[in-house]
Amino acid sequence: MTQILLLEDEPGIADAVVYSLQAEGWTVHWCTLLAEARQRWAQADLLLLDVGLPDGSGFEFCKEVRRSSEVPVIFLTARHDETDRVVGLEIGADDYVIKPFSPRELVARVKANLKRWQRPATAETQQSQPQLSIGDFVWQAQACRISCCAQQLELTAPGQDHERFLTI
Ligand code: CA
Repeated sequence: MTQILLLEDEPGIADAVVYSLQAEGWTVHWCTLLAEARQRWAQADLLLLDVGLPDGSGFEFCKEVRRSSEVPVIFLTARHDETDRVVGLEIGADDYVIKPFSPRELVARVKANLKRWQRPATAETQQSQPQLSIGDFVWQAQACRISCCAQQLELTAPGQDHERFLTI
């Protein structure tokens, strides 16, 4: 299940964010303090960070996270100041949303960033897919490859050849 950590000290904004994200079927862990977020972020698939918090800055927290993780980070910023947006991206955030934002925009950005994060894991899974060997033939389903005696065979119609191979 997708878990999102929300670090935001304004209850009005946090409530709207939690509601929108939960409607997508995601689990949201809402923290109002950096101290709490530090304890909980490691399990999250994506971090939504406010910049100004009672016990510090979301920028500092992002820098801490980036020392050990590439988890997607999106800043929620009330400031229309370009400097803030640029600083966020420079210290490793993936995206930002300017408050007030529409729930649809927020959900769309979260989805896009989750996809980018999940893609490398999928590629890794595909590489580790077992291959099927029959005699001198080796079939790698995920890579759409059939080889014979370590020579890759030219496939004109991969789908058909795979089916034929399976019936050999
Ligand atoms: Ca704040």
